[in-house]
Amino acid sequence: MSETHSPTRRRLIDLASIGASSDSENNPFRITQRQLDAAAGILHLDPAIHELLSWPLRELHVTLPVRMDDGSVKIFQGFRVQYNDARGPCKGGIRFHIDETIDTVRALAAWMTWKCSLVDIPLGGAKGGIICDPRRMTAGELERLSRAYVRQVGHALGLEKDVAAPDVNTNSQIMAWMMDEFSFMRGYNEFGVVTGKPLALGGSVGREDATGRGVSLTVREAAKHIGLNLDGARVVIQGFGNVGSWSATLLQEMGCKIVGVGDISGALYNANGFDAPALQKHCRANQVIEGFGQGDKLSMTELLESPCDILIPAALENQITVTNAPRLKPRILAEAANGPTTPDADPILQANGVYVIPDFLCNAGGVTVSYFEMVQNAYDFYWDLPTVHKSLELKMVDAFHAVQTMAERYKVHTRIAAYLVAVNRVAEAVRLRGWA
Ligand code: NAD
Repeated sequence: MSETHSPTRRRLIDLASIGASSDSENNPFRITQRQLDAAAGILHLDPAIHELLSWPLRELHVTLPVRMDDGSVKIFQGFRVQYNDARGPCKGGIRFHIDETIDTVRALAAWMTWKCSLVDIPLGGAKGGIICDPRRMTAGELERLSRAYVRQVGHALGLEKDVAAPDVNTNSQIMAWMMDEFSFMRGYNEFGVVTGKPLALGGSVGREDATGRGVSLTVREAAKHIGLNLDGARVVIQGFGNVGSWSATLLQEMGCKIVGVGDISGALYNANGFDAPALQKHCRANQVIEGFGQGDKLSMTELLESPCDILIPAALENQITVTNAPRLKPRILAEAANGPTTPDADPILQANGVYVIPDFLCNAGGVTVSYFEMVQNAYDFYWDLPTVHKSLELKMVDAFHAVQTMAERYKVHTRIAAYLVAVNRVAEAVRLRGWA
């Protein structure tokens, strides 16, 4: 894809670097813009709609003073980006990470917009982040940080405006604190301001494993499409948190063998396959795979390049690049993480015949069940687990086939096909609302 744009578009891209942490080609926000450009060209998108969709509608940058346990006050930086709400209220998770930047959050907010559109739920896209190292913070400090964030961004949140959710290093307890703080600000309970809440506070059954379940369902559909038998299929997973560990457990239930796993503490390989639920239990207790006591130690580079049928990056952005892509030969790359593949790596994967399940299709299960949670909160009527599972499966399978159909119609790679489906729907909403 080239970066030849109109002068106005180029100016917008220059503006995009204001407040950005990095100008490199791997800047995730630039990547989302380049991917949108490719789809806009194929769709012959109206230039004004193309420009509008290249840029977040709103962003908040906040400074958060937090009293630490030792009595000192530490200052944290946070963000909330509302990318586009033409199709409904914004929706997106909140990440706690030491390397968080405004560009990561912008990119993730854009991907949320495309993701909600792709699974055809009536929501727009947003994302939030706080620059912090939660591993070095106590529960009390995390609670005060979570509440401080809501006090700063709360005026922009709400069931009708923007609904938050858990993401990297955030969980249902953090969502409960955020909902509680928001409800105090409002003066009444508003459970629906966040999803991924504990069941006792209006959470949905089936939310915890929803993203991993969506990953496993799209892998199942992709395997059927390319004729890969899942019985004994070898899986390598980078990242063994919520998404990675549930993907592993559910794929093992489908017959796959989890041969490689890695996380912040290192990587392990076992050609006979790990016991995924046991490893998940170990990680719940210890936060990391280190100390599991099975498998051979590898570097992260070696893990990604290990022989496998299905490779699942489930950690952070930009893990598959022009450098390692030539050595990756899985039959299926299931992008459970957001933005794990750089645009320059895509043609290499295509040339090697790798079937890519693009991120905002592959990991859409989480936001889909979050949407079910919002529906249940709004009606104050709660579904059973089979209803959640069946409804999620319908959405994921429909989205997978919409992308596959588009890929065949336009003879394009699955990532571009996913953009074509998603961008077209958002563009239609923008046009019908008279925004451009
Ligand atoms: P998590 O915090 O539960 O787990 C993250 C995992 O990544 C951990 O195992 C951690 O050790 C590992 N990790 C972190 N930094 C790493 C590094 N530098 N090298 C190797 N491993 C590293 O997060 P999660 O919720 O499982 O999210 C994982 C990915 O999935 C993210 O890209 C997130 O945006 C995406 N995602 C999550 C959800 C969700 O519902 N949780 C939904 C959609 C997408």
